[in-house]
Amino acid sequence: MRKSYAIFAFCLMTLAGCAVQTQKECSTKNSCAIKEIECVDVDYDKYFTENTLRFDFQHYGNSESENYAFDGMKHEGIWAGSHKSLINTFGYGEQLFRIVDTEEQKVIYQNGYCTLFNEWQTTAEAQKTTRSYPESLIFPCPKRNFTVEIYARNKSTKVFEKKYSYTANINDYNIKPYKAEYSTEEIHIGGSIEHSLDIALLPDGFTAEEKEKFMEACNAWRNALFNYEPFTSEKQRINIRAVWAPSKESGISIPGKGEWKETLLDCRFYTFGSERYQMTSEFQKVRDVAAAAPYEAIFILTNSDKYGGGGIYNYYGLGSAGKTGRTGEVYVHEFGHSLMGLGDEYVEVGNTVSAFYPADKEPWEANLTTFVNFDKKKWKGMIAEGTPLPTPVNDSLIKLPDTQWPIGAYEGGGYLEKGIYRPWPKCMMNQLYNFCPVCQAAIKEYLDYICK
Ligand SMILES: [Zn+2]
Repeated sequence: MRKSYAIFAFCLMTLAGCAVQTQKECSTKNSCAIKEIECVDVDYDKYFTENTLRFDFQHYGNSESENYAFDGMKHEGIWAGSHKSLINTFGYGEQLFRIVDTEEQKVIYQNGYCTLFNEWQTTAEAQKTTRSYPESLIFPCPKRNFTVEIYARNKSTKVFEKKYSYTANINDYNIKPYKAEYSTEEIHIGGSIEHSLDIALLPDGFTAEEKEKFMEACNAWRNALFNYEPFTSEKQRINIRAVWAPSKESGISIPGKGEWKETLLDCRFYTFGSERYQMTSEFQKVRDVAAAAPYEAIFILTNSDKYGGGGIYNYYGLGSAGKTGRTGEVYVHEFGHSLMGLGDEYVEVGNTVSAFYPADKEPWEANLTTFVNFDKKKWKGMIAEGTPLPTPVNDSLIKLPDTQWPIGAYEGGGYLEKGIYRPWPKCMMNQLYNFCPVCQAAIKEYLDYICK
């Protein structure tokens, strides 16, 4: 879930940052230190060990500015990602990071992501105060000295600007060694670690006596995911492992009702004042637990019967483990956000302005368009000739079997009623329906990248 929490004051960014294009055209040049996006294969064995390195920092600022401050680095277990797909050029995310080899000044790793901090920036609170969120990046451990570069999208232009860099000595004795603290259990193994999407399921609010309850929730999560295409057909490229990490108290904090629980990951409802938005801001703690398993994606299952959750791209997804309402569908919806940043295709009635989707910019999400760059960047190629754009939707269309729904551009999505378009009348990303054909194709394409 990512909502437009408050009326947003557009930021007046005056920083003269370095504009970087991260879309699929790969020959972009700019005037900054990084000369171009490297689309050539990076030789994994030349630059990286078999393991993971973790870079922790604070992401802080207010509605108009964001800054970064170093916390520390840690060695972690085996690198679960591809050894071939090292430069992510999908252009997804509000943030981007690069690892630059010091000796050759070459970009050897790149990935996009989103953060809770960036959502907080759109709240009314962020217009009045400064706040810090703990954040963390993981990447294959470099063999040589390197620089971490972090980029953020300019709030007006939506173009990435370089905001921070940290040059590291790989032999720095301050880099903490890896220490496995928690046990893991296999929930589903489809393929090898290198060529599969590895998902870590983490518990919060389960006490030592509630392990069985958590494992049942993990099995339910797996069954929900594999109930929906394209995941049903992709089982052989997906691994799911549960990390067992008990909390002191049973249950989850509900601050708006005065209920507090001491839990390992400090998950809670009422994030940004929204009752059903259940998240944790303790992302480094989340990484501490996830490190027990080889992983590329994290999903937290909380010990609560209360409906709610959240999902942020390349950060984590979260859902209540209690079987209430449409729990399984919520898991899959939030995983769509956290795996690859699929946008919400639903509308909030009366909402006309969104900080996330200005009318004159093409959204980076694969399943939303403003028609600004529809032909090149979005699903124009999947639309049958003669389909009107925008595509009208009415009751008689909805009553037809979905196999007869044309792929088109239906107005309404990204919380807005007007000016933004979704590919199908219904989708997992709005009404918890099946994923629309465009979302399915985008997920498959992303899995192709991750599992290469
Ligand atoms: Zn969709």
